[in-house]
Amino acid sequence: MRPYLSNQIIGIIYPLISFSIFHIKIVSLQLIFSRINGNNIRHRIIVRQYGGVVPELASRAHQQNIIPVVHQALKQAGITKEELSAVAFTRGPGLLGSLLVGTSFAKGFSTALDIPLIEVNHLQAHVLAHFIKEDADDESHPNFPFLCLLVSGGNSQIIKVESYSKMEIVGQTIDDAAGEAFDKCAKVMGLPYPGGPVVDKLAKLGNANQFNFSKPRIDGYDYSFSGLKTSFLYFLRDELKKDAEFIEKNREDLSASLQKTIVDILMDKLRLAAKDSNINEVAVAGGVSANSGLRAAFEDHAKRYGWKIHIPKFEYTTDNAAMVAITGYYKYLEGEFTDKSVTPYARTSI
Ligand code: ATP
Ligand code: FE
Repeated sequence: MRPYLSNQIIGIIYPLISFSIFHIKIVSLQLIFSRINGNNIRHRIIVRQYGGVVPELASRAHQQNIIPVVHQALKQAGITKEELSAVAFTRGPGLLGSLLVGTSFAKGFSTALDIPLIEVNHLQAHVLAHFIKEDADDESHPNFPFLCLLVSGGNSQIIKVESYSKMEIVGQTIDDAAGEAFDKCAKVMGLPYPGGPVVDKLAKLGNANQFNFSKPRIDGYDYSFSGLKTSFLYFLRDELKKDAEFIEKNREDLSASLQKTIVDILMDKLRLAAKDSNINEVAVAGGVSANSGLRAAFEDHAKRYGWKIHIPKFEYTTDNAAMVAITGYYKYLEGEFTDKSVTPYARTSI
């Protein structure tokens, strides 16, 4: 049995209200994930209704759900709160109101139980999701140092990961994130929020070479996606003048072409960074790593360039509590505990 599996750490994640407890059996983890889905229904309805996350509504939803979710998480993991070793919580970056709810609860919970409090950086947690094991013999995790492409709703970064705690940003977006590019372009096509998964689904039915969208010319390993968003918008505006049904008629091809462009932009810089740093172990993390086009591009690079690739399971790509708990676990081993006077931060780097 792996040592960390016997440690029980509860992870608090922003922005979803979800908790995860590393229990000795992985089945607990799976159960917790199905529970998480059930408990986030209200949160998702709010998001759907307003086409995005409304900060005030999100923090209120956190407040209402945080205690019942912890109760259920413990129940389904089959342990009592007294058996917990530590409380790991997301300190930032994120929406301040929701972070405050999680931070305050974590402080109170750890004080009441007299166990350590462990702050977790949300972005580091996305990267360390690769170390979540579904069984004790799972040795598929990346070896240090490796490159990690972190692509989510708020970030697009190439990170050199030297250890569980030492991470260096090699390149990052200078404007929008890849997830934002998916979501904003999907919105222009009249697709529901979040648009990324919808574009992915439609792209499977379309021709990726039907339309050409320009790629940015940025030095080094940095990204830019705002130009793509604008050219997509202008292209549709011009086409709609000629044919009011242009979007309906071309939704699949537009999605496939857009997805190909975003994936190409991401892979071009990642390939360059891997070549220059002489690192051929490459991972992907964050919500956009669920994208089938990006996953296929990783497989393709593994074959063509001899990369050893690491692609997380779907449930560990977007925000999840297990990634907070695994990050908390490694900090726990190092004795990196957080003072109770801690406050959350809305913005921070890795
Ligand atoms: P951050 O981690 O930067 O704070 P976040 O937590 O909001 O941002 P995640 O939950 O990691 O982001 O990812 C959400 C993003 O992932 C959304 O932009 C969503 O559209 C995108 N996404 C999810 N699935 C897919 C998919 N299959 N294809 C493309 N994008 C996707
Ligand atoms: Fe995230």
